Amino acid sequence: DPLAFEKYCRERVSITTEVDAPYSFLANTFVLISSTKSRIRIVTLLTNCLLFLLHIEKDSLLSAVWLSTNDIAPSFYGKNLGVGPAMYSKALKEVCGISSQSLKNLWNRHGDPGDVAYEAKVSVRTLFQPQPLTIKKVFSTLLKIADCIGNGAQNRKLELTKYLLISAKAEEVRYIGRSIMQNLRIGAVQNTMLTALSKAFIIYSDYERLANLGSASLQEEFQKAEEALKQSFYQVPDYNILVKTLLTTGLNDLTQRMSIRPGTPVKPMLGSITKNLQEMLHKLKGHNFCCEFKYDGQRAQVHKSKTGEVKIFSRHLEEISERYPDVIESCQIAQKTNADYIIEGELVAIDSKSGQILDFQTLSTRERKKVNLNEITVHVCFFIFDMMYFKGESLLQCPLSVRRRNIIESFNIIPNQFQLAASLESKEEAAIQEFFNLAINSKCEGLMVKVLDGINSKLPSTYEPDKRGEGWIKVKQDYSEEFESLDLVPIGAWYGSGRKAGWFSPILLAVFNPENATYEAVCKCMSGFSDQFYKEITDRYSLDSGNSSPCVLTCPHAMRGLIEILASADEVWEVKGAQITSSPVYKAGIGLADEDRGLSIRFPRFIKIRSDKGPEDASTNTMLAEMYMKQNQ
Ligand code: ATP
Repeated sequence: DPLAFEKYCRERVSITTEVDAPYSFLANTFVLISSTKSRIRIVTLLTNCLLFLLHIEKDSLLSAVWLSTNDIAPSFYGKNLGVGPAMYSKALKEVCGISSQSLKNLWNRHGDPGDVAYEAKVSVRTLFQPQPLTIKKVFSTLLKIADCIGNGAQNRKLELTKYLLISAKAEEVRYIGRSIMQNLRIGAVQNTMLTALSKAFIIYSDYERLANLGSASLQEEFQKAEEALKQSFYQVPDYNILVKTLLTTGLNDLTQRMSIRPGTPVKPMLGSITKNLQEMLHKLKGHNFCCEFKYDGQRAQVHKSKTGEVKIFSRHLEEISERYPDVIESCQIAQKTNADYIIEGELVAIDSKSGQILDFQTLSTRERKKVNLNEITVHVCFFIFDMMYFKGESLLQCPLSVRRRNIIESFNIIPNQFQLAASLESKEEAAIQEFFNLAINSKCEGLMVKVLDGINSKLPSTYEPDKRGEGWIKVKQDYSEEFESLDLVPIGAWYGSGRKAGWFSPILLAVFNPENATYEAVCKCMSGFSDQFYKEITDRYSLDSGNSSPCVLTCPHAMRGLIEILASADEVWEVKGAQITSSPVYKAGIGLADEDRGLSIRFPRFIKIRSDKGPEDASTNTMLAEMYMKQNQ
């Protein structure tokens, strides 16, 4: 119980040394967390770990948060550890003095980078005792690894990796190994960490008052703190800022202090699903709403700061400014004044002469890395649909009608470069149907229907970061068919036979489980791919590419021969199927629809790569179970 633990800390923990918190403390917390699947227990263990650090050494808190969340920085910092399986294996061989064959055997037996390191190091006798690792030292070394660039970077990365492996003792080795390979597997995903942080800080700062509350009021206080902390984080999703703010001013006025700001991408608002136009009209009866084209491109936030710098961020918050210098230029020309802003829209490939929208496939052939203005081959138009910040003020709480007015007042249209998302304000079914048809004929996916203002409205018209709000409803053509598509993550593959010998086929696909940040296998897919695509994914994930784990998973008979590509898989594939079925083999959604059976997809067919999504944006186990239950109704 975190409250009892806080009491213990207040009475018994005295700060007698100036020593940094040891890494072994965090590693032992990870051991405890690994021994449970209960989210409540994981939150409690993390809360107590944070409370303890608040008492003994606050400076380690931020490093502990990053290490527990299996990351080193927000995605928009563009930091990458860049230690692949090949370098990791080399470091292990040199540190533990084992042969390639012994290491291969360990990979085959354990398949997990931490377990392999633990087993490899167990028998190593060291003549001298290395300095014990501290939480801060581990984290700062990981940052150094990420910061190695240029000449000799690979060697320096290798040396730093070896330093961590040499210095780690006992269970530390396992978690250091997993952190280096960014595969921690302890389930402290974002929501778990945010809950634990909110609990730790409210208990630490307000213990006396909380200790006298009854359990219902206490839960209410915890919930309020959690809500405020999550609200703040979704606006400024950066633990560096969050933890520093918490350490200086606690939970007081956190939402104001952590309010949206240019330069830090906000978690995007998401749309909820409807079957068809009739269902949408039923849901929005009595509300003011507008319909917009649902473009099939890449979602982007454009941020302009007071200094005039313009940056673009993707849907999963990576900075993509270097890929779109043309869009930055268009935004600058289109703006009427010089104010700072955050706007959002869809980047869509377009024929710059005819103005015709091109399909998503064309956009995906656009240069993926830095590009110069005169080298652009695929032209892009930014279709703006929202504004979240203007002239130093957050607009998140303003109704959409006001945000839209602001857009129109602040920007000029530049045909085929910077346009407003096509929209219609009408409640007439016939007019909306016609607009829907126009959207489909214009290579769009359908419509996004949005509540405009809040007067007499139960549905929100404000911008709700990270929420699948009822105030945004998507109507897609696909939904009128039986099966909604799913966004799945490729996690493994087998080598094919016959015509496909030498290529990966089939591919094992998974849904994401956000509770413990794992990927749950849902089906094998071998349809919808072109030969070219087979060749490309085989090259991308072959064992020689260094992107795959050289291991065969310890898995049920049906999975024999699987090559695990999870170590580096960061793709999301849109897949359609015929039906969701209950399965004794696949683990996706296990325990949700059925106590001990998972779910699978019949006749899965690959549609396209969703390059706008990261694996954590993939369809979840819960979404799959909901679809299954809806289908069976
Ligand atoms: P889907 O698979 O249907 O694209 P999703 O999970 O990617 O859904 P949702 O939030 O459910 O994301 O659907 C909204 C997506 O549609 C946005 O992420 C955005 O990229 C795209 N989009 C296109 N046009 C618009 C628009 N006018 N308003 C909002 N989003 C739009």
